[in-house]
Amino acid sequence: AYDYQIDDPELWDAITAEKHRQEDTIELIASENIVSNAVRAAQGSVLTNKYAEGYPGKRYYGGCQNIDVVENLAIERAKELFGAEYVNVQPHSGSQANEAAYAAFLKPGDVILGMDLNAGGHLTHGAKVSFSGQIYQSYAYGLNPQTERLDYEAIAAQAKKVHPKMIVAGASAYSRTIDWSAFRKLADDVGAYLMVDMAHIAGLVATGQHPSPIGIADVVTTTTHKTLRGPRGGMILSMAKFGAKINSAVFPRTQGGPLEHVIAGKAAAFYEALQPDFTAYTKQVIENAQAMADEFAKSQEVRVVSGGTDNHLLTIDLTKTTLNGKEAQTLLDSINITTNKEALPNEQRSPFVTSGVRLGTPAITSRGFNTADTRLVARLIIQAVEHPTDQAGLAEIKRSVHQLCAAHPITR
Ligand code: PLP
Repeated sequence: AYDYQIDDPELWDAITAEKHRQEDTIELIASENIVSNAVRAAQGSVLTNKYAEGYPGKRYYGGCQNIDVVENLAIERAKELFGAEYVNVQPHSGSQANEAAYAAFLKPGDVILGMDLNAGGHLTHGAKVSFSGQIYQSYAYGLNPQTERLDYEAIAAQAKKVHPKMIVAGASAYSRTIDWSAFRKLADDVGAYLMVDMAHIAGLVATGQHPSPIGIADVVTTTTHKTLRGPRGGMILSMAKFGAKINSAVFPRTQGGPLEHVIAGKAAAFYEALQPDFTAYTKQVIENAQAMADEFAKSQEVRVVSGGTDNHLLTIDLTKTTLNGKEAQTLLDSINITTNKEALPNEQRSPFVTSGVRLGTPAITSRGFNTADTRLVARLIIQAVEHPTDQAGLAEIKRSVHQLCAAHPITR
């Protein structure tokens, strides 16, 4: 018999090593989280064996009776969680959710106006290297250079110039509350559809820790694996009247067979997100991010973009240190703190280098870090980036990181 862990060590040793890396690393990538055993069990289940093109009750394959139960559970739970009339749980990823949402409302060549990648938008919001900037004629809005926040009047003025068919709100690196109604108004003023990509903040929206775009935007897309703490995947929410055209934009227009094992993982995650302790979790995520921002405010060389955070993430400006974003990411990696470099609102360096680092608290909060732990993490980061050549100091920080990780084992 074939014992995969013994007969295929190349693969399984790498997976085991990754488990150990996650256990002994402070994970601050804002888009990552640690899912439950239930989510992983669903994803690793026999559902991966099944083809189920179509939708519950209307499949192109036989034998879908159990799959239909699973997909309906995911849909009904998501509707309850977000108060949405219509949900499609089939998009394989956030990018594919966005691709399908555009396909449902737009034709190739139509104008879209989304947030600039450099300002914190996502590739799929119209960046030229993405399908979204190639199939559609895309324009980008940025942030107010003084406040480093969205400037709704400036976006309204830009919308009047470029006449978008769709305005895209939502971000990958924006630490402030987004005013969906302001976006709705400026979209209405130019007769544009409003799409909200709430991928980063979906968990906060689900628990009322960030205002909801449901009922305001024409279409809302999300990933399920960030603050929502589910499996890697995407989802589209909308009004019932748009359901048929969104369904056909997902399948058959942009996808084939749905990943029903991942959809089962989504159903498990939505079940968990409906429990009261998930609200407590998302509150702690924000408290931790704010504690971290508060600690950085005491530093001489590290500045928090926009002066703080309302959500799960913050970007730190390292211009006053001797490091650029890329160097800081590498330095932090060497002491087991995982982050990603991030462009600042007025970035002078290339996107491959940058002058900032993005930090998020969803993953460490999932393993039980409280505000005291998180303040300590911020102090360790300050010490490292302010003294990047002090080898003895860095070794000491790495020991503290190891202790923090050991004190908060991953038990999920
Ligand atoms: N939308 C936003 C706002 C994101 O931050 C991301 C991923 O980082 C995506 C969409 C894309 O998700 P995926 O990586 O699942 O394609």
